[in-house]
Amino acid sequence: DTDRLITPIRKPEDLDAALRPKTLDEFVGQKSARENLRVFIEAARGRGDALDHVLFFGPPGLGKTTLAQIIARELGVGFRATSGPVIAKSGDLAALLTNLEDGDVLFIDEIHRLNPAVEEVLYPAMEDRALDLMIGEGPSARSVRIDLPKFTLVGATTRQGLLTQPLRDRFGIPVRLHFYTVDELEQVVRRAAHLLALPLADDGAHEIAKRARGTPRIAGRLLRRVRDFANVAGTPIVDAHAADAALNRLEVDKLGLDAMDRRYLMMIADIYRGGPVGVETLAAGLSEPRDTIEEVIEPYLIQLGLIARTARGRCLNSRGWLHLGLNPPPEAGQ
Ligand code: ADP
Repeated sequence: DTDRLITPIRKPEDLDAALRPKTLDEFVGQKSARENLRVFIEAARGRGDALDHVLFFGPPGLGKTTLAQIIARELGVGFRATSGPVIAKSGDLAALLTNLEDGDVLFIDEIHRLNPAVEEVLYPAMEDRALDLMIGEGPSARSVRIDLPKFTLVGATTRQGLLTQPLRDRFGIPVRLHFYTVDELEQVVRRAAHLLALPLADDGAHEIAKRARGTPRIAGRLLRRVRDFANVAGTPIVDAHAADAALNRLEVDKLGLDAMDRRYLMMIADIYRGGPVGVETLAAGLSEPRDTIEEVIEPYLIQLGLIARTARGRCLNSRGWLHLGLNPPPEAGQ
């Protein structure tokens, strides 16, 4: 029974499952990733072969799970999803793998959090599509090899560097996902509004897109909250003004930063006079896990040029000071 190992695909703050793009054509942005995947999928289909293993890496909410599902759909094969921390024992992974059919996609989210013993089982499974199992114990123990169906592993992680080298080496198709442009997010927002039957003006879509932190998941979440405000206020059509009012009430600022982002910036500014300050110190001060700081908060602040990661720690850039409406101390390095 592998049911408890399978993760339901809907995450709580996602748009409804119906809003997820289902084909590569519907998927907005990530142009080079999309075009390359299209070629690899077509080639695999043409040969009647399983697609090589794919690793998606990039910040949360950029579409890794969505693309994994799209791959299965475009290949016309089955899809099973699980995540690194859920697979506690190598037997769990063995059960998942032996239940796959030829060509199936197995999606492992947070693959960097697999325990090392489980990861060991994955190597021959990926490379030779075989499982090496130990039967019995002590002197009579022996190893048997079980052939596996020709499956495709799709892994997702926030940073490629979190994976061990041997695991990374076994993915033939590594794909980095980038933050979306405002134009791309506008398309995401308009499509979602259409599916939700929400009247949204172009400048309203633009306002939400601008403040979505480069991330479709956040765009979807903001759209739904904006819809709540509009419904209750009886706003007939959501324009930039209505979107702005709602986003201000959600404490999402002009750059799309939320309260947590601002706490992070204020801590560097206020307590560490602009830095440098180590990530562990920030994590302790903010009571957030270091991973959250590094994988969720910082990438977008770096992208905006508000902070820099240096060898000695995090520093607030002049744009960061400006955004906070503060003056840097005279001796602060940039
Ligand atoms: P990740 O696995 O990277 O955390 P998901 O694939 O779960 O991200 O995507 C988060 C949400 O954003 C989903 O609701 C999905 O529908 C939406 N989404 C992601 N990428 C796109 C895209 N390119 N176009 C439209 N919606 C997207």
